[in-house]
Amino acid sequence: MCRCWRTSPRPWRRRRRSAEPPSPTLLGSSLVRVGFGGEDLRFLFSDGRDQSLSLFLPHPGQDAPVVPFERGDGWWQGWRELPDDVRAVMRSYTLRALRRDPDEIDIDFVLHTPAGPASAWAARAEPGDRVVLLGPAIADNRAIRFRPPRDTDLVVLWGDETALPALSSILESLPSGQRVRAWIEVRDTGTVQDLVTLADAEITWIGAGHSPAVVRAAQLPPAARPYVWIAGESGSVKALRRHFVQECGIDRRRVTFVGYWREGLTEEQLREREGVSE
Ligand SMILES: Cc1cc2nc3c(=O)[nH]c(=O)nc-3n(C[C@H](O)[C@H](O)[C@H](O)COP(=O)(O)OP(=O)(O)OC[C@H]3O[C@@H](n4cnc5c(N)ncnc54)[C@H](O)[C@@H]3O)c2cc1C
Repeated sequence: MCRCWRTSPRPWRRRRRSAEPPSPTLLGSSLVRVGFGGEDLRFLFSDGRDQSLSLFLPHPGQDAPVVPFERGDGWWQGWRELPDDVRAVMRSYTLRALRRDPDEIDIDFVLHTPAGPASAWAARAEPGDRVVLLGPAIADNRAIRFRPPRDTDLVVLWGDETALPALSSILESLPSGQRVRAWIEVRDTGTVQDLVTLADAEITWIGAGHSPAVVRAAQLPPAARPYVWIAGESGSVKALRRHFVQECGIDRRRVTFVGYWREGLTEEQLREREGVSE
């Protein structure tokens, strides 16, 4: 349940939105849904699926995230130059839902240990907290990676808890008759949920760490033109990509893979290592 929150006072600038969350809703012991409202969200558009966005969060003790929008187009450089304990924490998340009248969105956060600034923020989010979103201004945009070729006759999905929001939205977007084989790895059985889809989907929930063995042992349904989407912990994603390409013989151009996080690295460290910027 999400309650609409009051309009954010920050003026809208290009693709940036400020938004305020109501109380979070627990979806399991390690997953929490936070709904955001605010007038600026009317400028946010998305075709859904695995749509991601950047979230700027305040540090404990700050009223609002510090992002130097007063520098106009130079805000990104200005943000990078601020001291680490001042500049807003930037993290990538999936747009789990977008609603109109009123404009609201949901983001599902994994509460992990060790906690990072984003998971800690989500665990204590309260009405009135302020965040800034950097999200798409057009519905079909580059941050949607799930793009099966038209001739796809089998969609294969794998994700861990961080990719559950994306995987759920992907399943919701698929048409009746589309064959799907999906695996979802969760740390906590309380996170297992009913997923909504019209597709002809076989979904297997896997306990943490068991994915390689379970996926390897499974027989993929016969298909001439499969498409694979894999997202979650970076090491697991790489291993599974190798499995689908090398062992299953799937054309690497039909495999989309995204490392959402990496064991032992913060998102800043992961982005630095992979050379990713805004
Ligand atoms: C495109 C994209 C979409 C994403 N969508 C979502 C989403 O919808 N929901 C979601 O929860 N996450 C999502 N993520 C992953 C999320 O951005 C990372 O988990 C991020 O590191 C969390 O930030 P943090 O501040 O909590 O932890 P950080 O400060 O980044 O990391 C602190 C420590 O926690 C560890 N850590 C980070 N994530 C996890 C985890 N899930 N389990 C265990 N340990 C972890 C790190 O390795 C590090 O040791 C997405 C990532 C990408 C790239």
